[in-house]
Amino acid sequence: MALIVQKFGGSSVADPERIKRVAQRVVRAHRARHQVVVVVSALGDTTDELLQLASQVSRRRPPEREMDMLLATGEQVSAALLAMAIHALGDKAISFTGAQVGIVTDRAHTQARIQDISVQRIQQALAKGWVVIVTGFQGMTPDHDITTLGRGGSDLTAVALAKALNAKICEIYTDVEGVYTADPRIVPTARKLPTISYDEMLELASLGAQVMQARSMEMAKKYEVPLHIRSSFSRATGTIISKEVRAMEDLVVSGVSLQKDEAKVTICDVPDRPGIAATIFTRISDVNINVDMIVQNVSRTGLTDVSFTVSREDLAKVLRVARRVASEIKAGRVIHDDGIAKVSVVGLGMRSHSGIAAKMFQVLAKESVNIDMISTSEIKISCIIRKDQAVKAVRALHDGFGLNKLGLKPEAVKLARKKR
Ligand code: ADP
Ligand code: ASP
Ligand code: MG
Repeated sequence: MALIVQKFGGSSVADPERIKRVAQRVVRAHRARHQVVVVVSALGDTTDELLQLASQVSRRRPPEREMDMLLATGEQVSAALLAMAIHALGDKAISFTGAQVGIVTDRAHTQARIQDISVQRIQQALAKGWVVIVTGFQGMTPDHDITTLGRGGSDLTAVALAKALNAKICEIYTDVEGVYTADPRIVPTARKLPTISYDEMLELASLGAQVMQARSMEMAKKYEVPLHIRSSFSRATGTIISKEVRAMEDLVVSGVSLQKDEAKVTICDVPDRPGIAATIFTRISDVNINVDMIVQNVSRTGLTDVSFTVSREDLAKVLRVARRVASEIKAGRVIHDDGIAKVSVVGLGMRSHSGIAAKMFQVLAKESVNIDMISTSEIKISCIIRKDQAVKAVRALHDGFGLNKLGLKPEAVKLARKKR
């Protein structure tokens, strides 16, 4: 008997038929004498629909506390329906909200961070032989206000519960068979990876691979929570995410990702003197906006342009701050561009191989894709390019790094590469 956490995403519980199928899967695990804790997302596109509703009653940004009151309802519907479906199959199940099981967060509404989980109530129900269902994506502040954990936050609920309950495995059921070498919806030749490391999955998730929420991967990596990403529509083994993974063949890159929801802001003619960058980016972080890439050139005239990227939903807010700070430091105009995309290649093999950046730039050049900004870390290289060239770029990088050949024997991969 083991304690397992199973998380089902929105598409897995999109309608009553799918909820019944999920119930059957949960019951199968329960009758195999496992203690099962289930985390559910809202039905289908419910969260998007709730956001849409909010925008219809409040065109300006609605109060974030009320947004959380609204968004948290989606997961409550699926949790209750799943409990009913499990009852209908003859097993005992009880659903709880994040608040009811004591998922305590900070007060950062819509992006709250989990601070503490008291698992007592879950353990009591498990001890009675019940299946426990918990709403994903939400918690409560110490003063009992409901919070949500950022888009895709049910993954975080699942990982956090798996850690708190010391689960044997945290299974993430979704609409693809695992983690692929690229989003299979964009790259038809993408291959399923049997295993991937926390580091790589964290990078991929942070760089746009939606299959796991980036913040959930931070937690999974920190506490080494064993994860299995798999399909809720088949019984196939998916992708195991763990600390150590055997090097896959001779591939240095294990995935390509795409992020399309960023925008670039440029403050022109910024005086080049100590303290200016600190002023600009302190003002921006004061309003809780995360800056991604930053580019500043050496100036020859005493003035330089500073460009940075932010999430598109923060654009209006960051422009207001940037214009204010530009006038304060006597810089020039503030311009922006939301027609950009970020393509990235990720792989542990980059630690020990050189020439990956050069190869990436060659592949993009061959496709006549212009590079606007570049950033690198130990295991990733990202380029900002035009959004309308993004799909072409991702496909070219995927095949250019031989990821379409994955699954062949190493010799075959080498031979196939040489022929190019
Ligand atoms: P869920 O509703 O189950 O949480 P998501 O839509 O959040 O599912 O995540 C699954 C989606 O992630 C897939 O349908 C796929 O299009 C996308 N995706 C992006 N990159 C990858 C990748 N590298 N591997 C697998 N899926 C990916
Ligand atoms: N329902 C939430 C969202 O759509 C949380 C999740 O699905 O993980 O973002
Ligand atoms: Mg998701």
